[in-house]
Amino acid sequence: MPRIPKERLGRYLGLKREFKEEHYINLNPIQRGGVLTSEARKALLEFGDGYSTCDWCPPKAARLDAIERPPIAQFMRDLAEFLNMDVARVVTRCREAKFITFTTLGEPGDYVVVDSLAHYSTYIAAELARLKIKEVPHGGPPEFKLDLDAYADKIEEVKRETGKLPAVVLLTHVDYLYGNLNDAAAVGKICKKYGVPFLLNAAYTAGVMPIDGKKLGADIIVSSGHKSWAASAPTGILALKEELVDKMLARSKVVGDWSERKFGLKEYALLGCTVMGAPLISLMASFPHVVERVERWPQELEQARYLVEQLERIEGTRQLGVKPKQHTLIHMESDGFYKASQTHKRRGFFLYDELKRRGIVGLQPGLTKHFKLNPYGLSREKVEQVTKSFLEIANEQKLKVD
Ligand SMILES: *Cc1c(COP(=O)(O)O)cnc(C)c1O
Repeated sequence: MPRIPKERLGRYLGLKREFKEEHYINLNPIQRGGVLTSEARKALLEFGDGYSTCDWCPPKAARLDAIERPPIAQFMRDLAEFLNMDVARVVTRCREAKFITFTTLGEPGDYVVVDSLAHYSTYIAAELARLKIKEVPHGGPPEFKLDLDAYADKIEEVKRETGKLPAVVLLTHVDYLYGNLNDAAAVGKICKKYGVPFLLNAAYTAGVMPIDGKKLGADIIVSSGHKSWAASAPTGILALKEELVDKMLARSKVVGDWSERKFGLKEYALLGCTVMGAPLISLMASFPHVVERVERWPQELEQARYLVEQLERIEGTRQLGVKPKQHTLIHMESDGFYKASQTHKRRGFFLYDELKRRGIVGLQPGLTKHFKLNPYGLSREKVEQVTKSFLEIANEQKLKVD
């Protein structure tokens, strides 16, 4: 029998995280909205054991979303209400929620219309569901705005080419690259006109800003608990309109050909149960905080705009994407830092190094010409420390600062 030497197993003990919130200001865009509340941190320990949510699984319902102790069933209802949708489920990730949508609403070979700034996992979820992609184009620099009217053209195009409407239309509410906020209601209207289900990917929006699914005309909303709901990975949110429940949350019909076993209570696209432990509980424990924090979105926006304004004081540095910012994910382009990197002994890594020395992490190491950052949830003092550090580094590199 193969044996792993003790010395090697030792490395798995006492694991520590270097970039803890107490030690660093972490500007990584994917990490800001997922910082846990202290309630969630406590809940993680309490429910850390395996299937810890399943102590009181009701024998007659036998499903995660039916559990009353802890109040998971109520949480699903509150989650739906918070997004102004009818029904909600917690799944493992936003991408799983997209996959469930694609696979339950589409037949292999059908089309899904997506924006061309969609996350890679949108494309891959469609691929696994055997759907084809039709992209809505975006404009060039500096705004890279999506042409939302083109959703109608692309739906028509699919109809012309296949004689069939697309199975689903997806819009990325805020894209991961420029942090542009899209007018979801406009796409919602187009989808309604064609009678095509509208999937809004709110990975970067629900949980940090107020979202009203009905107002936006969304038939399905998906989001990411570890990105935007102060929850541990993996957690995803799938919220839908009543009309889609029969299709998307259909019950299992499979029968064992020999045993004749059946599982008629299980929602088969969810493979029965989904997040049956600590990550779900972290999402629930942060929920009261999340409900309250979305109201403070205007202050978060103001802070992001302030950061942009300060960074743009640096020679050759500008914000890409729509101005002023409608989201806290910021994409900067800096000819100034790039110029400095050309003669620096650490080349492109100097910016990362200099920030880290000042207790700031989360920019991609090696990048100077283009970098992304997100000040969401940081205190004013920390944002000041970030701006001061950037301006200091620019000064040291002999860049002009206005
Ligand atoms: C981050 C992101 C995702 C991925 O979310 P997971 O929960 O990790 O699957 C999907 N879509 C968009 C637009 C994202 O920004």
